[in-house]
Amino acid sequence: MTLPTKVTLVEVGPRDGLQNEKTPIATATKIKLIKQLQAAGLTRIEATSFVAKNKIPQLADAREVITGLDLTDPNCQISALVPNTQGLDAALDCGVKEIAVFTSVSDTFNQKNIGCSIDESLTRIEAVTRKAKPLGLRIRGYISCIAACPYEGNKAPGLTAKLTRQLFDLGCDEVSLGDTIGVATPNTIEAIINAVAKAHSLDTIALHCHNTYGQALANIFHALTLGVHIIDSSVAGLGGCPYAKGATGNVATEDVVYLLHGLGIETGIDLNQLITCGKWISHELGRTVQACVTNAS
Ligand code: MG
Repeated sequence: MTLPTKVTLVEVGPRDGLQNEKTPIATATKIKLIKQLQAAGLTRIEATSFVAKNKIPQLADAREVITGLDLTDPNCQISALVPNTQGLDAALDCGVKEIAVFTSVSDTFNQKNIGCSIDESLTRIEAVTRKAKPLGLRIRGYISCIAACPYEGNKAPGLTAKLTRQLFDLGCDEVSLGDTIGVATPNTIEAIINAVAKAHSLDTIALHCHNTYGQALANIFHALTLGVHIIDSSVAGLGGCPYAKGATGNVATEDVVYLLHGLGIETGIDLNQLITCGKWISHELGRTVQACVTNAS
C-alpha cells in the first residue's frame, strides 16, 4: 500500500458549509472564521460564492467577505465559486485569483440546483473559463453526485470520467469529485477514480466526501491509496445535507487531519488550533460540532 507523504486540504466550510445555514451570519464572523483557518495552517480556502443575492442570501456579502481578506498571503490561496460570467466579473472586481465552477453528473440535480442541464452548465462554464483563463486565474471544477443523485439514483463511473475530461478541456486546472449525498463506499470511489485516472493524472483531482452515511474517512483513506492527494473538507463538519434530514454533510476537517497525521502524512495544519476554531464557529452558529475528534477530546 502506498500513501502520499503530503496531502493538501481544501477547506470548503466558509462557502459550502455556511451556505446551508438558515440564520444570517455576520460578515465579520465569516472573515474571522477564514482568518482562523489560515492561522491554523489551511493553505486553500473557498471563501464564498458570487451567486445572485436572491439565490443564496447567506452569501450575499461575497464582496465584503473577499475584500476583508488578504488575497496576497503567499501561504494561503483564497478562492470563490462563480456560477456564471456575472459572478466572475464580481469576483474579478474584488481581486480573486482562484475561482470554482460547478456541475453535476445528474441533469435533474443540475436543474434543481442551478436551473440548467449538464450541457447548459458546460456552456456557462465555457463562458467563464474563456474569460478567466487569459487573465491567469486558477480554475477548479466541481462535479457533484459522482456516485449517486438523490433524484436519479446510482451513476456510472464513466459519466464522471467523461465530465472530468470535459472540464479539463474547458480550461479547469483541477477537478473536485463530490459524493454529494455521501452514499459511496470505497469500492464505488475506486471505480470512479480508476475511470478518471485512465485519462488524467490524479495530481489535479480532488475528492469531496460527505459523511452522511459515515463513509467519508473510509473513502478518503482508500482514495489516498489510489494516488489522490487533494481532499476537500469543512471545519466542524459545517454544512448539512439538504437531502437527508438530520444527517451530517461535509466531512469534518478535524477528522481528516487526525487521520492524515495518524498515518504520518504531512498537512501543515495545527490540529489543536483547528479544533478551537471549529468549536468557536459552532458556538457562534448555535450548532454541535460535527467532528468526532473534537467530541472525543
Ligand atoms: Mg459539500
